[in-house]
Amino acid sequence: MKTLYPKSLKDLKNHVLTKSSSIYVMSKTSTVIPYDQLEKVLSEEYIVNLSQLPKRIELIDENLLIEGGVTWEEAIEYLKNTNRSIMTYPTEKSACILAGLATSATGEMAFGYGTFRDQVLSCQYMDRNGQVVDLDNKRNILSGEYQDFIDEYQGFKNPPFPRFERNCDLLIGTEGQLGVITQAIIQTVKKESYSTYFFKLPKWEEDYAPHFQLVSSVQDLRDSIRICEFLDSNSLAYLKEPLVKNSDVIVLEIKNETLEEVLEKLLPRLSLIKEEDVFEISNSKFQELRVEIPRTVNEMNALKKVVKKGTDAQVRIDSLKDLLDYYRDWAKQGVKYNLFGHIGDCHLHFNFMPDQESVESINEKLTEFYDYILSIKGSPFAEHGIGIIKKSFLEKFKNSSVQETFKELKLQHDPENIFFRSGFLSE
Ligand SMILES: Cc1cc2nc3c(=O)[nH]c(=O)nc-3n(C[C@H](O)[C@H](O)[C@H](O)COP(=O)(O)OP(=O)(O)OC[C@H]3O[C@@H](n4cnc5c(N)ncnc54)[C@H](O)[C@@H]3O)c2cc1C
Repeated sequence: MKTLYPKSLKDLKNHVLTKSSSIYVMSKTSTVIPYDQLEKVLSEEYIVNLSQLPKRIELIDENLLIEGGVTWEEAIEYLKNTNRSIMTYPTEKSACILAGLATSATGEMAFGYGTFRDQVLSCQYMDRNGQVVDLDNKRNILSGEYQDFIDEYQGFKNPPFPRFERNCDLLIGTEGQLGVITQAIIQTVKKESYSTYFFKLPKWEEDYAPHFQLVSSVQDLRDSIRICEFLDSNSLAYLKEPLVKNSDVIVLEIKNETLEEVLEKLLPRLSLIKEEDVFEISNSKFQELRVEIPRTVNEMNALKKVVKKGTDAQVRIDSLKDLLDYYRDWAKQGVKYNLFGHIGDCHLHFNFMPDQESVESINEKLTEFYDYILSIKGSPFAEHGIGIIKKSFLEKFKNSSVQETFKELKLQHDPENIFFRSGFLSE
């Protein structure tokens, strides 16, 4: 496979017009594409790295215009001296915003602000003829069985497959299989200050009642709480400077303007959590440790040459205890593991940390897990997408209308199969 780095839209167009099969990437932080093994798993001729396209970031009428390889980190920095903030960032802020459209990224702040998809006002993409096409966010609902199927996943961050509700949804969550995203305009929000609170909890394997009580208690406080994150004791043990030992934590970011009011409402609801186990830490400290954990997981897998064996499923709150019971069984399998994620949205990442020898049996467990998620109508790939790694698990979620819709989309937008042909839209 050859790698290209287009430096302008003209370079990009020239490549698209060669009609060579390519995967278009940006920061390469996707956890569902095994970048260190691409030669083995992809049949594409080219990797086209878009990170050197000219960057543009501009605040126009309180909306943020993004072109080229602008990262979430850079957008946060750009807005530092303004009174606006972005409403989304994935935990890995070195990822690019335009790639975030392709993967329908979400992140910690989805608890308070909802999904990135809904914050996209418009986007531009390069189609198979090298033309830049504009897509607005007007509603253009695909009717019929496909959309009926997707409607069953209302309330989830991402259903198993893309939610084609607005024109720009064509490029959101389709992982670059229908064109190359070149620009987006996204909403921002008025900047407000937040305080970060840690709630120290028993290990979920022993007792998850306090976790569940906290999660249930914050559901009606989303206007004031933008983050509700979970780190279990195994995840915390990876930290260079562990904040607590042999305990789990849930972290909330609470708007300062309503802090007193929120704590007054919240604390009396938490009969299972002692007041001395609630403490404040600096937001930057939390951000550092929050990203340190998944990065460590990825590094450990890379060291063992194991493809990540983790989940990305979201369930409804009435299934949260069942999900935790399911994960409890996994915790007893004798394979190292950790659990963390966006617990406020009942969206957790269970990561097996296997050696090469246990990979096969973990794959079987994951296959069974997706049967379980299907049976409770949970969302199997709520945030990180499908890529290559999750592709084998997706078949069971498809029905004939899904297959038909994928075929039609590919025929209409990419009949030569030049855009990421190893992706989930292709057979
Ligand atoms: C430590 C860690 C934490 C993470 N946390 C989160 C999280 O909280 N939430 C979350 O959603 N994700 C998370 N991720 C996953 C990852 O960061 C996101 O999927 C992110 O959107 C990928 O951005 P990227 O620039 O690295 O894209 P890449 O990995 O370069 O590409 C990802 C996919 O998008 C396609 N693509 C990229 N750019 C374009 C383009 N311009 N046009 C068309 N297609 C394109 C690629 O073909 C590929 O399929 C995390 C990853 C890590 C390593």
